[in-house]
Amino acid sequence: MRIGIGYDVHAFGEKRPLKLGGVQVEHEEGLRGHSDADVVLHAITDALLGAAGLGDIGQHFPPDDPSFRDADSLALLRQVVGLLQTAGYSVVNVDVTVVAERPKLQPYIPSMRQRIAIALGIPETSVSVKATTSEGLGALGRGEGIAALATALIK
Ligand SMILES: [Zn+2]
Repeated sequence: MRIGIGYDVHAFGEKRPLKLGGVQVEHEEGLRGHSDADVVLHAITDALLGAAGLGDIGQHFPPDDPSFRDADSLALLRQVVGLLQTAGYSVVNVDVTVVAERPKLQPYIPSMRQRIAIALGIPETSVSVKATTSEGLGALGRGEGIAALATALIK
């Protein structure tokens, strides 16, 4: 058994769909960043890579590589699950905390868990997604962006 941690943050400020956990969330603006800026999936991807000792997301999918522009982060996550399988690992469970002042994420959590579980090839009961706020403190508290923390257990 091995455990990994992942953290990611993206700032708001782009007229693009807000993608979180592989789900399109209703909001007036999207997050800036490489690929589709899905902060939830990026944190999970980094947790899995960390658990396997396989580096980090930026190493595998460099942000300055134009081929990852607007890339579907679910596809990147599936690629990383493939890397883990090649290295002899399978995913046991993942747990994510999303820090977002807005929008309200509760209604989207069941679909996020479903999408993530399919990408990881594990039951939905092994995927936990929790949403919290920053209680108005700091940049996240002012709603300037969204952060996500993830842990992953692999065997
Ligand atoms: Zn990211």
